Amino acid sequence: MHALAKLDQRYNWHPFTQMRDWAKSEPLVIVRGQGTVLYDVHGREYLDANSSIWTNLHGHNHPKINTAIRAQLNKVAHSSALGLANEPAALLAENLVRNVQPPTLRSKTVARIVNPRLNKVFFSDDGSTAMEVALKLGYEFSRRTGRSARPRFLSLDRAYHGDTVGAVSLGHIDLFHKSYSGLLFKSDHVMAPYCYRCPYNQAKPERADAREYRRCKWECLDSLEQKFDAQKKKGNRYAAFVFEPLIQGAAGMIAQPDGWLGRASQIARSNGALLIADEVMTGFGRTGGAKKLSSSEGARLFGSHLEGVQPDLVALAKGLTGGYLPMAATLTTQEIFDSFLGDYEEFKTFFHGHSYTGNQLGAAAALANLELLHRPSSINRRDGLENELREELQRLWGHENVGDIRQVGLIAGIELVKNWRTREPFALRERAGIRVCEVMTQLGVLTRPIGNVVVLMPPYCTTPRQLKRMITALGEAVSRTFEKTGAAQPKK
Ligand code: PMP
Repeated sequence: MHALAKLDQRYNWHPFTQMRDWAKSEPLVIVRGQGTVLYDVHGREYLDANSSIWTNLHGHNHPKINTAIRAQLNKVAHSSALGLANEPAALLAENLVRNVQPPTLRSKTVARIVNPRLNKVFFSDDGSTAMEVALKLGYEFSRRTGRSARPRFLSLDRAYHGDTVGAVSLGHIDLFHKSYSGLLFKSDHVMAPYCYRCPYNQAKPERADAREYRRCKWECLDSLEQKFDAQKKKGNRYAAFVFEPLIQGAAGMIAQPDGWLGRASQIARSNGALLIADEVMTGFGRTGGAKKLSSSEGARLFGSHLEGVQPDLVALAKGLTGGYLPMAATLTTQEIFDSFLGDYEEFKTFFHGHSYTGNQLGAAAALANLELLHRPSSINRRDGLENELREELQRLWGHENVGDIRQVGLIAGIELVKNWRTREPFALRERAGIRVCEVMTQLGVLTRPIGNVVVLMPPYCTTPRQLKRMITALGEAVSRTFEKTGAAQPKK
């Protein structure tokens, strides 16, 4: 075993990892990256098929981002945002505000959504802290303005918004969150549009176009209305409705059908709730639609906008720096900002911040990232990759154990089941997703599952050949793991 692997096993405690299993075999030690490829300490190559947990956008070792970080490093690496402004953070805040204003916000499904303008940016460190900021601002704003005496939050079934205690309070994944219930504040959850396992409507996921739900009457939205009604009857209002737009990531890549977000947002708004969008995974082009805006206005970068929704608070992280450095931002409205203004002795200040808030290296990387995202070559490549992914994924329908394939833009979740006809899920202890990903690693493709869902989220620079290799490895891994013959069974 390599000396670095030994050191790791001896001293490191890895996130979301059963460390007893970790100790059983030599861990991969990454020493270098180039584009979509990561290299380990033994010189082996792997395709980074989940963009290093959904962070990387343009590939590793990108000259433009490297240069931006180096140039900033030669000036200053970090000075505090408590009491001081700095060059890249000021530029980045302006840039983010510009990027978060889609020029034509039109909901496809809802005639009248009143959308606010976002023009203030609060920087923090990662997705969890961006969500903490959003929920504290939403809470205080609702209380101060009298919109809600006892502000409470509503999020989706299986919601995941980070691992800090506030973010966990908004989360509803028992496996991750239940043990800490004694530490958390109470929040409510409502049915998410998990169409593959919809209790009302048997959608036909085996069809090529899995987004057609012919018999759907938006029953899940009835339960959303009921939640708001019940809260009203209690004489209270939800401070905010919290969601990931278009697709819930850690919930198991649960893709929302077209029109769901627009409708859900209108229900929440008409009940006086703020909209908090967690765009930690979905932001910066991940949800696709790169070309859906006239070229002079640049690319559309955020999931909410594809449904014509502008939230009151947006949390950004992961891809903000192109996946290079930990930095996050919470964007909000003038109205929310103003509710924290006053004379000093009124103590209306937002008493919240982190040591590395507005870090210069992160901000420099983020500025380079945004510039890359608007390049026509990047827009074209994202558009191409989205279509190639859609096409390549079709090959996986042939497997007995592939139940559903969900794709939103450049995000895909492949749900493994015991048998596609019955949709019977694997028990978690069977480690179906983990086993498939282990075989994929042997085949030189890195990703991680969420329970029984294998995630594919390629960096935007992924070539058609690399994408083919990712899908082939996934298919091969499913065959080797479950199919005794070793060959994919064609579906009838
Ligand atoms: N929100 C979403 C939607 C996420 O996917 C994640 C992380 N996977 C987070 C929040 C938390 O982000 P971080 O891990 O950077 O704290």
